[in-house]
Amino acid sequence: MFRLPPRLLRSAAPWARFSSTDALSTLKPARTRFAPSPTGYLHLGSLRTALFNYLLAKRTGGQFLLRIEDTDKKRTVEGAEKSLFETLRWAGLQWDEGPEVGGPYGPYRQSERSALHQEHARQLITTGHAYRCFCKPERLQALAVARKRANLPTDYDRTCHSIAASESASRAAAGESHVVRLKAPDQYPGFHDVVYGHITFTENARAHSLGSFEDPILLKSDGLPTYHLANVVDDHHMQITHVCRATEWMPSTPKHVHLYNCFGWTPPEFVHVGLLQNAQRGKLSKRNGDVFVSEYREKGYLASALNNFVALLGWSHEQTSDVMSLKDMVERFNTERLTPGNTVVNFEKLDFLQKHHVRETVGAGGAAAEEIFEVVVKQVSETYGDK
Ligand code: GLU
Repeated sequence: MFRLPPRLLRSAAPWARFSSTDALSTLKPARTRFAPSPTGYLHLGSLRTALFNYLLAKRTGGQFLLRIEDTDKKRTVEGAEKSLFETLRWAGLQWDEGPEVGGPYGPYRQSERSALHQEHARQLITTGHAYRCFCKPERLQALAVARKRANLPTDYDRTCHSIAASESASRAAAGESHVVRLKAPDQYPGFHDVVYGHITFTENARAHSLGSFEDPILLKSDGLPTYHLANVVDDHHMQITHVCRATEWMPSTPKHVHLYNCFGWTPPEFVHVGLLQNAQRGKLSKRNGDVFVSEYREKGYLASALNNFVALLGWSHEQTSDVMSLKDMVERFNTERLTPGNTVVNFEKLDFLQKHHVRETVGAGGAAAEEIFEVVVKQVSETYGDK
């Protein structure tokens, strides 16, 4: 049984769905985004996220955006961005707006948008929703140790919240190192999720009464935003209508909705999809099969088969056959049939789909069929020699 992240409670019925029977002309064009951090190769789960976003945008005649979330410089991996572009294009998921193609809401790399993020952090300080924190890492560390020893929650004690606005501004202007923290409310707002229904977040009031405040960092001491601030500001400014991502991001969503409220913006619709799991209900890992898209590609799997395979991990349809091209999936995609809960990946299904996609591609002839012949010839000669 799928369990919601511990601090989330589920209630009420699904909302804001559309089904495959809705006429395309009645659907409002969706602006969706795939927002990877360039930390490594694209894995199956991310391909599925990108694909769902692509399908939702194309099904409704909207736009699919690619946004690179590269504000955590320590985690950024050299070459990851390039390989990401390459793999998405191989999969046929060309973005309408994003790096290398541009668009009206760029730049599409978050590291190039920090002036906008800083401006919004300042706005939150002015409106009292955020504050500068000048505490040194050593103080925070000592605080956490002391609170742990006293069996108290170890979050921040909000010391810097009491610094007068004028002093805070002049210390920042004098170059004193600081971060900007969100002033967490006693209760984050609930939100509607297209797949999971109404989600409410466990309140913070108890921890607050014990002098412990989560107060997440929005802007780091290097002036770069954290995920929460950058994600919300960019989704808003890029006019994203649907945020479709894995449930691992669901615990962040109440914070995001709170930020939307602080700014006075309307949040997008949230579409969370469960995680991919192995047969033991654990995380997909190398031990259970390949996890990177590039590995499947190298083995000769067709992009059409892999897309078809990942689409069926958490989405179902009303057709008699599971074999679908990207075009078929665009025509049939609906959020109504995204299933709540995590999905166990059955790799045998991939081989079944591959067989069908190879047959169809070879039958259609042309360059794609030639490519398959080349792979077959290469594999035969590698296995049996050239003669
Ligand atoms: N940068 C996040 C990631 O790496 C994006 C999560 C989201 O879609 O909001 O997946």
